[in-house]
Amino acid sequence: MAQLVKVEANRLKDYEDVAGRDDIAQIRQMAEDLQGRSVLHVNATAYGGGPAEMLTRLVPLTKDVGLEVDWMVLDGSPEFFQMTKGLHNALHGTEVDIEPHQEETYLATNKANADAIPFDRDFVVIHDPQPCALVKFTPGNGGMWAWRCHIDLSKPYEATWRFLSPFVKMYDALIFTLRDYVLRELQHKPVSIIPPSIDPLSEKNKVLEYATVARIVEKRGIDPERPLVTQVSRYDPWKDPLGVVDVYRHARREIHDLQLLMIGSMATDDPEGAVYYDKTVRYAGEDPDIHLQTNLTDLEVNALQRASDVILQKSVREGFGLTVTEALWKERAVVAGNTGGIPTQITHGETGFLVSTTEEMAERTLWLLRHPNERTQIGEKAHEHVRRHFLITRHLKDYLSLFADLAKRGGG
Ligand code: UDP
Repeated sequence: MAQLVKVEANRLKDYEDVAGRDDIAQIRQMAEDLQGRSVLHVNATAYGGGPAEMLTRLVPLTKDVGLEVDWMVLDGSPEFFQMTKGLHNALHGTEVDIEPHQEETYLATNKANADAIPFDRDFVVIHDPQPCALVKFTPGNGGMWAWRCHIDLSKPYEATWRFLSPFVKMYDALIFTLRDYVLRELQHKPVSIIPPSIDPLSEKNKVLEYATVARIVEKRGIDPERPLVTQVSRYDPWKDPLGVVDVYRHARREIHDLQLLMIGSMATDDPEGAVYYDKTVRYAGEDPDIHLQTNLTDLEVNALQRASDVILQKSVREGFGLTVTEALWKERAVVAGNTGGIPTQITHGETGFLVSTTEEMAERTLWLLRHPNERTQIGEKAHEHVRRHFLITRHLKDYLSLFADLAKRGGG
């Protein structure tokens, strides 16, 4: 059944150095009227992917400012997650039809979970399409409900959207990453725009000692003396792992000792992951300088991002791209697909490069590898951009402001 996710504690005062005292004071003030209010987040996985990454840190931080917060993950069969992956792809715009028996699985799973989850909270935040129909099976629960859509919903595949849309319309509020992601027919609903964020103090992003980075690089078989390009992403067609191998091969014609590292976790709600990983392994062949890794710890991901000379994010579609944010924060030069939320993070030529083809990505990567001073300058600007716009403290403020608004609308 649906599981409560345990998270490690997190304290707002520890963020003073990075976010600034004024910001922290403002957060405390915003939280004053919300003391003791209860919140429940529900999503599909406790591990792998952006939403889980963010909740792990945001849930305890919201608790630290005085709210009662729980996070639960949905329980579902492989058929259910197969279906919701299709649903996810359809919402992004791919033509994926949902069969009647899949609709039944989806509804039955949502109903069974709804029966088991204690929804008696002031605010319930449901993330993404998998648990979206919970709202249908919880009449008269009293609280205010928000649907947090992490996907670009501007052009969904119509036939499949028709199945999901009645549930979406039952929510009191909708949350999107970017204004551009809001489907026209939803624009009359109360919509909050809340971009994602990273936690600068998490294992994934905290500053590391040189020795720690060196130890992990060695453990993973990377040569620290030779250039390294890296992509961190689930093995997913939209993250184009085969294209990443092409970029590396192209660049290696000119930089013969180049190494490629690809890091991808297998999320429990992503059945395609293993299939696409195998495909990438076959495509990479016998090259000993292509390192394909799965399910590394956050500390390892952190160290390997820091050890990379250039970070690639060859997405052809992307919700936001937290991996980009993480790399920018680490002052890395990033070359990324010009898609989804990536252009809000990268100003072309200033805080990284935006590209549309494999050749362009290879060219920009080569240029960066050959220009270490420019790489450093780009990395410094990138870090400041993330500090101003995409830290967890800003994210917390956005949620507190939404909860205050929902409390008002809910009559309390
Ligand atoms: N991630 C990870 N290990 C991996 C691959 C990804 O920890 O092997 C993390 C990554 O650091 C980021 C998140 O998973 O925090 C992926 O979020 P993003 O928005 O980039 O993509 P999504 O998977 O949500 O499409």
